[in-house]
Amino acid sequence: MAGVRRPVPRSVQLRLDVADRVDHLPGQHYVVRLTAPDGYTAQRSYSVASAPGDPLVELFVERLDDGEVSTHLADVVEPGDELEVRGPIGGWFVWDGATPALLVAGGVGVVPFVSMVRTAAELGRTDLLRVAVSTRTLAELAYADELAAAGALVVTTREPHGIRPAGRLAPADLVPLWEPGQTCYVCGSAAFAEAASQLLLGLGVPATSIRVERFGPNG
Ligand SMILES: Cc1cc2nc3c(=O)[nH]c(=O)nc-3n(C[C@H](O)[C@H](O)[C@H](O)COP(=O)(O)OP(=O)(O)OC[C@H]3O[C@@H](n4cnc5c(N)ncnc54)[C@H](O)[C@@H]3O)c2cc1C
Repeated sequence: MAGVRRPVPRSVQLRLDVADRVDHLPGQHYVVRLTAPDGYTAQRSYSVASAPGDPLVELFVERLDDGEVSTHLADVVEPGDELEVRGPIGGWFVWDGATPALLVAGGVGVVPFVSMVRTAAELGRTDLLRVAVSTRTLAELAYADELAAAGALVVTTREPHGIRPAGRLAPADLVPLWEPGQTCYVCGSAAFAEAASQLLLGLGVPATSIRVERFGPNG
């Protein structure tokens, strides 16, 4: 473990020095496996936030109060610790760096999109990405500054944001961001993924252009 930061309450950013690392594609994830002294193991998936050019693998984990793995990562892990990881994994929820894309995230679902935004910056193709993010409050939003710099539309559901009252992502939010030819990526809890997918379908986005990653227990 090369770095542990807690830039946002109730979450942790981990920077891992992975031996024999294979380059990842933006959108892919790693599996983190914890093993207790009695041999009990638990493993969970975590999306990569790094751009492929980053020498370290960056993960960002939201702490769920009754979560087995996220509490350990958020509360216990320190720099210098060894973590068992496997990856990169995933071939569908990836961005190729060349196709126009609309990225729609709920909460910590922004993580794979941070990798995409960073990749676009490395490639000099930030023009290809449009980003919409829904978060309870701005203080809880991971990578808020980077997302703002990327021009992301940020919707807050529990507090006003600028002149916008608290409220959920609405069709009118996505209309100016969507263009024919885009691939739409949706990431967040199962409930968010369902709602955002329905919004996109309602706008006339073909189902074949929508790729969804669910972070919830059914993920
Ligand atoms: C491909 C993929 C990528 C993912 N990337 C990330 C990531 O970048 N960052 C991140 O924080 N998480 C990510 N997740 C979710 C992560 O894998 C775990 O599900 C999450 O950390 C909870 O694990 P836990 O062991 O702490 O909780 P568990 O012990 O598994 O569950 C504790 C309780 O929380 C509920 N629960 C489980 N997961 C969630 C959830 N996501 N939201 C709400 N309730 C839940 C369970 O039903 C249970 O009641 C990803 C999931 C997938 C499938």
